[in-house]
Amino acid sequence: MRIALATLSPSDGHWLTRAALLVALVGLGLFPCGGAATPWGEVRLPSAGATRVIGSVSNGCIAGAQMLPETGTGFVSIRRYRNRYYGHPTLIQFIAEIGRTQQRHRGMLILVGDLSQPRGGLMSSSHRSHQNGLDVDLWFTLAASPVEARQLMDNQPDPPSMVSPDGLSVSQHWGADQRFLIETVAHHPLVDRLFVNAAIKREICQSTHGDRGWLRKVRPWKGHDAHFHVRLVCPADSPQCDAQTPLPPGDGCGSELDWWLTPEARQPIRKKPSPSGPEPVISSACQAVLHDAPTPLESTDSQHLRTDVKRSILD
Ligand SMILES: [Zn+2]
Repeated sequence: MRIALATLSPSDGHWLTRAALLVALVGLGLFPCGGAATPWGEVRLPSAGATRVIGSVSNGCIAGAQMLPETGTGFVSIRRYRNRYYGHPTLIQFIAEIGRTQQRHRGMLILVGDLSQPRGGLMSSSHRSHQNGLDVDLWFTLAASPVEARQLMDNQPDPPSMVSPDGLSVSQHWGADQRFLIETVAHHPLVDRLFVNAAIKREICQSTHGDRGWLRKVRPWKGHDAHFHVRLVCPADSPQCDAQTPLPPGDGCGSELDWWLTPEARQPIRKKPSPSGPEPVISSACQAVLHDAPTPLESTDSQHLRTDVKRSILD
């Protein structure tokens, strides 16, 4: 089930109730997954063969995924022990391009969080989406070096929120680096949309003059105050990829955003989907990916992977 926020926005006369929000969170794959075991987390390597994205961000998989390197110009891949650093080549390329731009203009490193598991699929924790190799989390806090990045993030709590405690404005941690990062990502042609806290969206709406077209891709959401979530469009090589519902017209800075900042919208949602509820049905195409032969690894990658596995046991 997929419900677009556009269909629930105040501008359409369909106010987003808390019940509708719960459904929307699940449908958009932004409701955190509750920790259930999943076979996808047991697979340590991508499948061999051509890359294909199959299904949707919240019920899909990826064949022939590519691994994000640990570091590159302008970025560091953090929390590698989670083994969630795989994606479609366009996602790997996107991260490399954003890193180079950030390095050139701001001189800092982007901390890259979860992409997908080696073959995508449902994760045992943290995400309902990130399933088909097109999603990535980028942190707002930047680092001066890979060593600093790992000290900041690996086996550590999340870095500070960019939103004030009342949830209505940005915090003292928000600044030009964060703004530059969001704008750079939103301008990238492969980005379908990105999700940020509503207070951050409002700050960007209020501080943008001139071209406002890119604001449309910046979607307000709950949480997402220390990191933001980027989603790419379906790649041309993957006809089985389920495209996202088109974004509504406009910059998204009007009544829809106002609703996200109401007390009703900012209330924490206590009810979560039952972990004992029905598991999503894995398509036959994804079943085949799940059981396919693994891609051969270089020896250095094998060594690195074993280290990651050991660390994940300690986490
Ligand atoms: Zn995410």
